[in-house]
Amino acid sequence: MFRVTTEIININKDNPENDKIHKAAMILKNGGTVAFPTETVYGLGANALDSAAIEGIFKAKGRPQDNPLIIHIADINQIDNLVENVPVKARKLMERFWPGPLTMIFNKNKNVPHIVTGGLSTVAIRIPNHKIATELIKAADLPIAAPSANISGKPSPTHVNHVIEDLYGKINMIIDGGMTGIGVESTVLDVSCNIPTILRPGGVTREDILEIFPKVEYDLALKSNEKIVIPKSPGQKYTHYSPKAKLIIFEGNIDNVSNQINVRAEKYLDEGMKVGIMATEQTKDKYQGCVLVLGDRQKPKTIAANLFRTLREFDKMSVDIILAESISKEGIGEAIMNRMKKAADENIVVNGGG
Ligand code: AMP
Ligand code: MG
Repeated sequence: MFRVTTEIININKDNPENDKIHKAAMILKNGGTVAFPTETVYGLGANALDSAAIEGIFKAKGRPQDNPLIIHIADINQIDNLVENVPVKARKLMERFWPGPLTMIFNKNKNVPHIVTGGLSTVAIRIPNHKIATELIKAADLPIAAPSANISGKPSPTHVNHVIEDLYGKINMIIDGGMTGIGVESTVLDVSCNIPTILRPGGVTREDILEIFPKVEYDLALKSNEKIVIPKSPGQKYTHYSPKAKLIIFEGNIDNVSNQINVRAEKYLDEGMKVGIMATEQTKDKYQGCVLVLGDRQKPKTIAANLFRTLREFDKMSVDIILAESISKEGIGEAIMNRMKKAADENIVVNGGG
């Protein structure tokens, strides 16, 4: 096993200290790896133009080589050094959503190494809406490739402790900048086709994009339960966000769902298993035992913010099985259910089990 000395530094997210940002930027300039907070989840950054540095990201995360990285920039002008051209559609979206949780796919130019794009001729780019992230990118004066700062397959990190758990001893620096805000990753949008197509739902919702364009599609692979449909976003084909325990999602009328979860919980307890229940503010009193509250059904943003942390907490409680309520797919709910279904490896009980 390779082992690297990891420095952990605390940076003020509202007013990042210049000397600390400079220190982190020097690591990036020298080909090292730095984990930093963004408004979505923590990212693991390296110089996007340096193949050896990017190798460090794949190695630390144990990420499959064909799963491309998102390049983070701090200024729209940085894009010209990375892409063939910027479609008019993309310009409109940048004006509205950057900085923010919208990643767009462009035709890459020769400056972007193949290792960043997993061999694809396209490249994913966004400007994050987080002072530490943008100050760091500006100080490094480089485009920074940054996937989520977790071991591949595990829930994405929303707190510095999650990054430490997964990557301490494998990367050069971890910046502690507090909790991330949104809690699920950016939306990945393909703007190269006539109708903008969401390849991964995320922080910017379909409804948000519909304010700019009359039509927005979801990639076929997101609409189909069949695993044979190949997603346009390579990362979507992998099992992801997985807690150690088996996760089962219960869909349908919420009263049926709660009853069915209780029936199942009793069955698994009788079988000697430790059962975790993922509830919401509205339903938490219906359950007993290892119950964690995801958030408020009326405020799905609270659910997005807590989802990955809750999955990691169940791991700490060493439960064998997690029974989870589904939530409405409206707005950010689409991204939440996308992550939950991947974490459950599509293990879903429909209509509360009937
Ligand atoms: P992560 O960095 O862990 O948030 O994952 C990045 C996501 O962006 C993965 O799902 C990738 O498949 C997707 N992605 C990155 N580059 C491209 C690209 N050129 N085309 C399609 N999807 C991409
Ligand atoms: Mg990830």
